[in-house]
Amino acid sequence: MPKDRIFRSDVLIIGCGIAGASAALEAAKSGLRVNIITKASVPEESNTYYAQGGIVSMGKDDNARILKEDIIKTGDGINNPESVEVLAGQGREFVERILIEELRIPFTRSSGETLDYAQEAGHSRRRILHVKDSTGRTIEETFIAALKKYSNVNFMTGRTAVDLLTVPHHSRNLISYYREPQCIGAYVLDNTSRAVDIYFANYTVLATGGCGAVYLYTSNPREAIGAGYAMAHRAGARIVNMEYIQFHPTSLYHRDSDGFLISETVRGEGARLKTKEGQTFMEKYSDKRELAPRDEVTRAIYEEMTNSDSSYVLLDLASYAKVEIKKRFPYIHKTCLEYGIDITREPIPVVPAAHYGCGGVLVDEWGRSSLGNLYAVGEVSCTGVHGANRLASTSLLEGLVWGTRAAQDIAAHFDPALPYEQEEIHPWYYPDREEEIDPALINQDWLTIRSTMWNYAGIIRTRKRLERAKADLEYLRHRIEKFYKEAKMDPKVVGLKHGIQVALMITHAALANPISLGAHFRKD
Ligand SMILES: Cc1cc2nc3c(=O)[nH]c(=O)nc-3n(C[C@H](O)[C@H](O)[C@H](O)COP(=O)(O)OP(=O)(O)OC[C@H]3O[C@@H](n4cnc5c(N)ncnc54)[C@H](O)[C@@H]3O)c2cc1C
Repeated sequence: MPKDRIFRSDVLIIGCGIAGASAALEAAKSGLRVNIITKASVPEESNTYYAQGGIVSMGKDDNARILKEDIIKTGDGINNPESVEVLAGQGREFVERILIEELRIPFTRSSGETLDYAQEAGHSRRRILHVKDSTGRTIEETFIAALKKYSNVNFMTGRTAVDLLTVPHHSRNLISYYREPQCIGAYVLDNTSRAVDIYFANYTVLATGGCGAVYLYTSNPREAIGAGYAMAHRAGARIVNMEYIQFHPTSLYHRDSDGFLISETVRGEGARLKTKEGQTFMEKYSDKRELAPRDEVTRAIYEEMTNSDSSYVLLDLASYAKVEIKKRFPYIHKTCLEYGIDITREPIPVVPAAHYGCGGVLVDEWGRSSLGNLYAVGEVSCTGVHGANRLASTSLLEGLVWGTRAAQDIAAHFDPALPYEQEEIHPWYYPDREEEIDPALINQDWLTIRSTMWNYAGIIRTRKRLERAKADLEYLRHRIEKFYKEAKMDPKVVGLKHGIQVALMITHAALANPISLGAHFRKD
């Protein structure tokens, strides 16, 4: 049996994408002792790393009121006005102070010293800062390099959070049941030694990102399975809006591509969508054809795929391009060529992909959750900024703003006295006989989760489909729970336990909400 250890810090941050890294940087500057963990083997690996488009700031003919209106229009009006006010009112200052002045992110400039502001769907102004088409990667690498300079930040890779530590739930002291529930850290699996260590902290910040990878087709890396939602749910924190999963209309359909995004500007430059047989179809769905809003295009593609029992449709740029393709889309051209597709000569096979979770752990404007001493920031949280749908390029900014503000709040209210008796906490329970895991079982369970979510709780939902999803997933959950209790601890087993729970959370929320709004579409 592996030997577990105990780690202590003022703040435990789970995840080091833009949200966790922002929280860590601010906490480090306040002199707090920070443990920051990631399940990845390199700290940069995250959704943040793959963000291409950019981060919202404020354009030249722009102001907070106009940005607020755009956010609320896209979110179908169910956004939290106080959170939108924070993002629109303070976002630009955070970008300038932290990203430009402090971290010196080399945002693309159009001529000389002038910043290049890009425009994306849903934005009424040009206001998106970018580093060519690798914004997330540059931001993430710069953050990690900056954090490594602080001696009070302890970086730990290859550590998978298993469960949040909460009192009274994990306490041996029965008197603790009379106190307010609070989070005091986490049980964390060391991916190498397979021990489940205890991480105590006065404050815990969940920054575990989104859950696109519970779907068969996703733009997210395969590790984005929503662990934070599952852990917060088990710990008793409030979770909201899980049904609002945003889908991107076009990702590359190829066995090896893992959801490479084909930008919507490709359709803006004339590309047309066709069935596998070469028939255009958008004219059946919208007067605007290929330039219809993202959700409408996504649903049209899905309908065509379902009706013709096809796994993809075609995006034909070669026959219609109004621009020189190689010059306008060098990255897409180069990447598709690597998969044997020359987009200057042939159509691109595409499929919609789960992209972003608008809901999550409910937090206030400082990132405080409903559970004592637990904060949540970035995609795992629900600040209410996005309402029923996210305005493009606002999520990196939300992670930056809320990550920083959460650490500011912790520093302002920091109480060094630990609010619990550490020796009263249960160590991790290991079964007497641990079974070796069979990867075939895990792979098949994931395939079932992902295809169930895609077909029954995906782009177009009906009560029948969702009820079927609920029944199938609940049955699978029983089997996974049994497996989890007997199997040797392993990041894959932990991921499966988190993943089935997240799939059920989305399904339950979608079933309970008969009203189509934003990213949640009910056909019945
Ligand atoms: C292809 C793509 C393009 C995008 N483009 C843009 C864009 O242009 N602009 C924009 O604003 N947004 C964009 N987004 C969305 C945006 O990238 C994300 O919403 C944002 O990066 C989320 O940041 P985060 O810090 O919350 O989470 P992430 O960056 O996903 O970080 C999560 C962290 O948590 C860790 N983690 C997860 N589970 C565990 C666990 N159990 N234990 C320990 N560690 C764990 C991960 O290893 C990682 O370090 C894009 C997303 C994708 C996938």
